[in-house]
Amino acid sequence: MTTTPAPPTDPATTGLSAWVDVDLAAIRDNVAELSRRAGSAEVMAVVKADAYGHGLVPCARAALDGGASWLGVAQLAEALELRRAGVTAPLLTWLFAPGADVLGALEADIEVTVGSAWSLESVLAATRSLGRPARVQVKVDTGLGRNGVLTDWSEVVAAVARARAEGAIEVTGVWSHFAYADAPQHPTVRAQQERFVEAVAELERAGVRPGLRHLANSAATLTNPSAHFDLVRPGVAVYGLSPVPDLGSPADFGLREAMRVTARLAGVKAARAGQGVSYGHEYTTTQDTLLGLVPVGYADGIPRAAGNRGPVLAGGRRHTLAGRVCMDQVVLDLGPDSTLGPGDEVVVLGRGVDGEPTAQDWAEAAGTINYEIVTRMGPRLPRRHLGGPA
Ligand SMILES: *Cc1c(COP(=O)(O)O)cnc(C)c1O
Repeated sequence: MTTTPAPPTDPATTGLSAWVDVDLAAIRDNVAELSRRAGSAEVMAVVKADAYGHGLVPCARAALDGGASWLGVAQLAEALELRRAGVTAPLLTWLFAPGADVLGALEADIEVTVGSAWSLESVLAATRSLGRPARVQVKVDTGLGRNGVLTDWSEVVAAVARARAEGAIEVTGVWSHFAYADAPQHPTVRAQQERFVEAVAELERAGVRPGLRHLANSAATLTNPSAHFDLVRPGVAVYGLSPVPDLGSPADFGLREAMRVTARLAGVKAARAGQGVSYGHEYTTTQDTLLGLVPVGYADGIPRAAGNRGPVLAGGRRHTLAGRVCMDQVVLDLGPDSTLGPGDEVVVLGRGVDGEPTAQDWAEAAGTINYEIVTRMGPRLPRRHLGGPA
């Protein structure tokens, strides 16, 4: 097996059991690559869910450095956090429930999505106190069957046109989202694009200049140039993960993973052949061996479904978890000859080079998608942001 030298010990991690390193240079480069592939379309880097677990504010800044002209988040609170941190870039949000502080968002120059008659009413109510038109984008459900205006597009278009004529709102964009972007040949992809073009035309006929038209997430940004329109909204690809692992690896798309999760062995001990390991003894040693204790568990985002399957790089070798994932720890069967000891670093997740397991490897081990692996890395793991501006 390979004998990757242990990474140099960094005093900044002394005393940490486990942590997440985020390579901001990778995020910058990934956005630059996505921007290149988007051609004349602008890039809205999606930084919702704490930048997919990578840390909201530093990743937002890195994405802007890489050439994103917009940032996208799901919730108003995420956008307000960016504003509080001093991020001034254009910001779009797309999800709020009745009673949300829409006025607070509009006052902070955050664009809000109108995806229903009631959400337009919420915006109009806020506008009465705003003292200027609210900047909104209108979302049409072209077939995803999730949020956005589905059957009552004509009514919402009429209400939007009225509100605009009254000077209550300014419509800066119209957008939608795919159901099958990860299967570019799926018939719904073309059907949704056609429906989108029709919906935009209807808005124009009502006298509303649609501003930015956008539809493409990461998968469509990388695989479907006909869906780029005026702006693309990549999320997972910003962090260097492939949205279409069956069609290409991150490297195939010119991207590289930004997240690495490292842990320090919290124990190494001898065990006899036949020793059951972890709850329920779903793993049993087959020889006299050494067991390594890794201090991360499902509370940190290690999927419990990856018991006996999840990969960890320890001492330059890939190991598979021995037994169940516990709340705070997992166990590796290091073999009888391991020279590893307490305090040695193991890589739980990283880039697919030098034997490091990837988020995609974990997704396959746990029966899920790479998105879920990185976004669930828990708050107990401190984030270190590397490669940022000096
Ligand atoms: C999350 C999200 C994106 C980004 O999706 P990826 O598949 O991560 O690129 C884009 N648009 C909307 C509406 C989203 O919710």
